Amino acid sequence: MSKQIAHFIGGELTHDTDARSGPVFNPSTGQEVARCVFGSRQTVDHAVKVAAEAAAKWGRASHAARLAVVFKLRDLVIANMDVLADAIGREHGKTIADAKGEIGRAIEGIEFACAAPHVTKGEYANNVGGDIEVFSMRRPIGVVGCITPFNFPIMVPAVMMTMAVAVGNSIVWKPSEKVPSAALEFARLWKEAGLPNGVFNVVQGDKEVVDAILEHPGIAGISFVGSTGVGEYVYQKGTSHNKRVAAFTGGKNHMVVMPDADLEAAASAFVSAGFGSSSQRCMAVSLLLPVGNETAERLRELIIPKIKALKVGPYDDATADFGAVVSKESKASVEKAIARCLEEGGEMVIDGRNIEIPGNPNGYYLGPTLFDRITADMQMYKEEVFGPVRGIMRPATFDEAIAITNSHEYGNGSVIFTRDGKSAHRFMMEVESGMIGVNVPVPLPTSYFNFGGLRRSKFGEGHLYGPDAARFYTKLKTVSQRWPEPDDGALPISLAFNPTA
Ligand code: NAD
Repeated sequence: MSKQIAHFIGGELTHDTDARSGPVFNPSTGQEVARCVFGSRQTVDHAVKVAAEAAAKWGRASHAARLAVVFKLRDLVIANMDVLADAIGREHGKTIADAKGEIGRAIEGIEFACAAPHVTKGEYANNVGGDIEVFSMRRPIGVVGCITPFNFPIMVPAVMMTMAVAVGNSIVWKPSEKVPSAALEFARLWKEAGLPNGVFNVVQGDKEVVDAILEHPGIAGISFVGSTGVGEYVYQKGTSHNKRVAAFTGGKNHMVVMPDADLEAAASAFVSAGFGSSSQRCMAVSLLLPVGNETAERLRELIIPKIKALKVGPYDDATADFGAVVSKESKASVEKAIARCLEEGGEMVIDGRNIEIPGNPNGYYLGPTLFDRITADMQMYKEEVFGPVRGIMRPATFDEAIAITNSHEYGNGSVIFTRDGKSAHRFMMEVESGMIGVNVPVPLPTSYFNFGGLRRSKFGEGHLYGPDAARFYTKLKTVSQRWPEPDDGALPISLAFNPTA
């Protein structure tokens, strides 16, 4: 019998009786490695009840008491790096080195959550009028529903939920059903760190659990990361149930290379940022836009050997550059995108289909694939392809490169490589993306800056990292107070709305 993956509610692993379940695969081998229990509305209802009871106490705990747990969590994540990386790699397919990189970014997020008291402290003014003083304070919102994607099984949850917990909320989390084991490892570490039972809960499952979270009256806010279609649905449904929702969604990230750029550096950056993690990153560079044909020709010659040298392999092969894509369906959808691009007239420069990985004939592997002469009317331009297929476009001028970048429905990350400050400045001012890179191919800012896309790469307010995340997970109260002296006498009646009284 394969391993059974459970929920984690009230500090305990729990299985629903008569629950549905789904298979969990190891993408590197194509083998089923576990079955994951799928929760129901009743499971969510139970988890929210437990979380709400825990939130009532946790929200009143001192900052010092909360942060003692967060500090401990940080140390435990570091101490459990190998276990976590293996849990990620086994179900996601990314290499151990990549998984450890992800955990490193998770640690940054956990460390920033230790700034929660600073970023949530309020404002104060005295003598506002008639001995009145006014101050503001931020309070936890209560129970936060979290819905996360498969592609960062630890980083996205850690960044999202550690701040939510640090400011005093409790969590009901539905991880991706493709990578459920890392979620239980993370829950285990919270418990070991001393978090009171019930503050951190995991309900495994699919759409049924998501819908129950979106509709549940006991949940105050929703954090979502995933694809654009689902994110828009989550935003609309969640807000229609009167919740605050921040949904971080898809990307199609453009990398513009100016003729004056260091082309060798730009070529390496494109290959790393384009194909890392089998291109299953929302911030992966999808499209290369060298400005002018000469730049395009030179860059193309530089990237071809670098791409051909990439090694694809199982997650635990220390010599592999990237691993399998996450599922059989995902592989089929990437192959379909390649076939359609050929039909649409894309020039295939490197064909990564039919790659064979010795000893792993059933893994979901795709080699790196490169198209040239992509145009904005092609599907290969329009859609986010979550697999190792990247494209070159050929804008004649910088104006055209900016226009193409801004014409896309997504605005997650956009990048320019140049030696010219004026071009870089124009790019950062005019391009409508949430994150801009200047000679930095993956402009994922560090955890104390806000992260979030523009256009259809984000729905709702709030950010995923940074001070804005703390604001999203707290509600603002503004207090006006006066402490009259006993001999001040009765307040005169005044029906005027006079601020200077
Ligand atoms: P996904 O949208 O398929 O799944 C995300 C979550 O939603 C999962 O927990 C899943 O179970 C659930 N879900 C899936 N279909 C649903 C439906 N019909 N109704 C309700 N819930 C549903 O995304 P994914 O494939 O797991 O992740 C990849 C996507 O996430 C990419 O589009 C990527 O760009 C995006 N992403 C964005 C960011 C960002 O910060 N903007 C970060 C990471 C990933």
